[in-house]
Amino acid sequence: MIIRFWGTRGSIPVPGRRTLKYGGNTPCVEVRSSENKLLILDGGSGIRELGKHISSLDEKDISIFISHYHWDHIQGIPFFTPLYNPLNKVTFYGISSNGLTVEKEMKQQMLPNNFPISLDEFKSDTHFMELNKNIAYDINGLKVETFILNHPSPTLTFKITEAGSSFIYMTDNELNIDNVQERQNDTFLRTMNKDLIAFCSNSDYLVHDAMFDENSMLDKKGWGHSSNVSLAQFSIMANIKNLVLFHYNPDYDDSKIDIILKETKLFLNRQNSNINCIASKEGLEIKI
Ligand SMILES: [Zn+2]
Ligand SMILES: [Zn+2]
Repeated sequence: MIIRFWGTRGSIPVPGRRTLKYGGNTPCVEVRSSENKLLILDGGSGIRELGKHISSLDEKDISIFISHYHWDHIQGIPFFTPLYNPLNKVTFYGISSNGLTVEKEMKQQMLPNNFPISLDEFKSDTHFMELNKNIAYDINGLKVETFILNHPSPTLTFKITEAGSSFIYMTDNELNIDNVQERQNDTFLRTMNKDLIAFCSNSDYLVHDAMFDENSMLDKKGWGHSSNVSLAQFSIMANIKNLVLFHYNPDYDDSKIDIILKETKLFLNRQNSNINCIASKEGLEIKI
């Protein structure tokens, strides 16, 4: 498998000099199977550039998995040029949310008051498939398992496995922590995230929301995001091999993300963990 990052930012695109290193586009990740089959995770603003890249490759069969329908995860879809090529087949996969299907969610952001053209303008052979939680799917030779996350809107994580190697895309997730003694209470973290720890157990790569640092997290309870430190604790409990920080706070510039990465590594070292921790950035490529 090859993983490429096209958007790593949470909430809203933040282009500019202060985000050049890690990028300003909202979530989009390209996954390639060993047979070069394509699977896309989320359609944030990063999918626009990916679309141009795919068009240059003359790619015909495209699967897009949407974790949930918050704007930062779908806002790039109307600008995804392969959707306007009649030679392409594009399949969207997503969970029904508050009675709305993945198709209705895609239509909604292209209503006349939101966008100048409608979803009917898509020229590709376009399909919409419903996903359920706790189910395994076989997509182009990749095993894709789902699990529901802790976020204000129904949100799925995707664990992708090929030939025994696994990669987990888990963003917009608030790990359950003890609000009173959150830094010390490992037992609470382990107990309250038991099923998620089992889902992630022994995975090669975990890409996870690290939206806030530990101090900022204190008044962000219920926002549906995690701190880098609780994420590091969780990763140790799940015996993850590689931890990839993702979905950065739009207010965090490159130097702040450098600090968060350094703090996370320091925390892991103090716990005698040998987890390799990196910070995702646009253009990063991982071979698994
Ligand atoms: Zn988000
Ligand atoms: Zn969200």
